[in-house]
Amino acid sequence: MKVYKKKSELTAYLDAFREIKSIGFVPTMGALHSGHLRLIEESKKDCEITICSIFVNPKQFNNSDDYANYPNNLNNDLEKLKKLNCDIVYTPKINDLYANEEKVKEFDFGPLANIMEGKFRPGHFNGMATVIEKFFNIINPTKAFFGQKDLQQLQIVKALVHQMNIPIEIKGIPTVREENGLAKSSRNELLSANAKDEATLIYKCLNYCLNNKEKGVSALKLYIQNQFKKQDHLELEYAEITSLKNLLPISKWEAENENAICIAAYIDSVRLIDNIIL
Ligand code: AMP
Repeated sequence: MKVYKKKSELTAYLDAFREIKSIGFVPTMGALHSGHLRLIEESKKDCEITICSIFVNPKQFNNSDDYANYPNNLNNDLEKLKKLNCDIVYTPKINDLYANEEKVKEFDFGPLANIMEGKFRPGHFNGMATVIEKFFNIINPTKAFFGQKDLQQLQIVKALVHQMNIPIEIKGIPTVREENGLAKSSRNELLSANAKDEATLIYKCLNYCLNNKEKGVSALKLYIQNQFKKQDHLELEYAEITSLKNLLPISKWEAENENAICIAAYIDSVRLIDNIIL
């Protein structure tokens, strides 16, 4: 496994076989768990060379505490990637990607960027798209792999590729969960065992909706809000029932598998998001 810290070294290496091999790219912020590793496995199945980036992108954090507390264990991450035979890891320092005082790029992703995560994390998607655009330009992958757990991010990246007018195929990979249903997340490392247990309410609500679709959109949204009100440690930020196409809210169901329920909630100051397609 080759590990590069500098984009010049990475591109020099990649240029040698760019023409002949398919390149799969998995961007991450590290603290790797089995959700990330699933993306690597999918890339390895689909592409001849797999590159994983590990970079905690300061520009996509709208909350400085969240950035300061973000878990970080590079040596563990490298061990996990080595076991999976990941071919290349790119772990740039901030100044390999950003010029001094470089501003975040302002993108126009329309309403998609202003709802849910866009509404509650102002600037997050511009920061995320700024770094993903840089990665795409440096690596120029054949395919890039993103988790459906970050459903809105996945849609925004598809819109970004469309705007960049480049032929990168974006693959969305289903969410990997703990046995109790909690979606795997690097931020779970910040939770006590008790909090992790209580956080399963998110998945319980999503699952309840999946199994009780006939109750209708408004009743289910109310159900979720009421379940969270009963809990002391969990604070619901939003629960939206949306069309999978554009993630805009719906008042009645669209066709089977064309709907998504998205939840963001805080537990012990840690922000978790999850969703289900139904
Ligand atoms: P992050 O390190 O949080 O930026 O995530 C890197 C990639 O892993 C993103 O495409 C995420 O959507 C994806 N990811 C995070 N958690 C999971 C999960 N539980 N299952 C599948 N993919 C995930």
